[in-house]
Amino acid sequence: MQVLIGNTRVTLVQGDITTQSVDAIVNAANSSLLGGGGVDGAIHRAGGPAILDACRDIRAEQGECAPGNAVATTAGNLPAKRVIHTVGPVWRGGHKGEFVILESAYATSLTVAMKEELRTVAFPSISTGAYGFPIDRAVFVALQTTQRTVRKNPDAFDEIRFVLFSDADLLTYATALEDVRKTMMG
Ligand code: ADP
Repeated sequence: MQVLIGNTRVTLVQGDITTQSVDAIVNAANSSLLGGGGVDGAIHRAGGPAILDACRDIRAEQGECAPGNAVATTAGNLPAKRVIHTVGPVWRGGHKGEFVILESAYATSLTVAMKEELRTVAFPSISTGAYGFPIDRAVFVALQTTQRTVRKNPDAFDEIRFVLFSDADLLTYATALEDVRKTMMG
């Protein structure tokens, strides 16, 4: 499924983010930047040790990556050119700044991509795995932040791709993207 926002295609695919041939894939990292489970583990496993080496260098220079922030590294052996590591919020019921932090994770990742002129960016569903953010609410943060950024920067991106791991997550995204499309048509 895809929706065109200005010159940018917003697409949904089901699959494994590590296999995406794009300029940048986004990692749902944790603040340590030293690897973890879920999508983080998959990226480090498939990409090889160069990614962890680069994360260690960033840590040595600027310390941990705060929730809502993002940093870029090599993609090692992955088909993508770069990995943008962002840290989403841990869900604590929804009143502890989770929505603002999740929005910042998406927005900052896209800012990092723009700085490096990475025109095709693939996101996983940040925070909706181990971090427990309900996906039916996270999806609107993901899509609305994307829409806002793309409208402000109409020439920055060719494609923003959301890579969903499960059928159920893909359906959640497809339903929400259809809502966005209808709203755009007014
Ligand atoms: P977080 O800690 O931010 O919640 P997780 O990695 O636990 O991050 O989960 C985020 C989402 O990524 C979940 O929906 C999970 O199913 C999905 N996921 C796990 N592995 C992959 C992968 N290889 N490609 C794409 N999505 C993945």
